[in-house]
Amino acid sequence: MMPPIRCFTCGAPLGHLWEEFKARVEAGEPPGKVLDDLGVKRYCCRRMLLTSITYVEEVAKYYTLKARRLREVGGLA
Ligand SMILES: [Zn+2]
Repeated sequence: MMPPIRCFTCGAPLGHLWEEFKARVEAGEPPGKVLDDLGVKRYCCRRMLLTSITYVEEVAKYYTLKARRLREVGGLA
């Protein structure tokens, strides 16, 4: 949901790499090359960045809709 802060397996900090990784991959660079450039060598850390899906904004929309619906029907939020 959120960008990875640390590798689940080895604990290496990764949060500072997320924005650059995401921007460069979205610009069309191969993800493997970006990870090499960023110095992410261990496969446990590479999978953290490669497999992250940030959908917190997507989920937040549903909380807004849920709150609106509960107001409409008079339920508890
Ligand atoms: Zn790791």
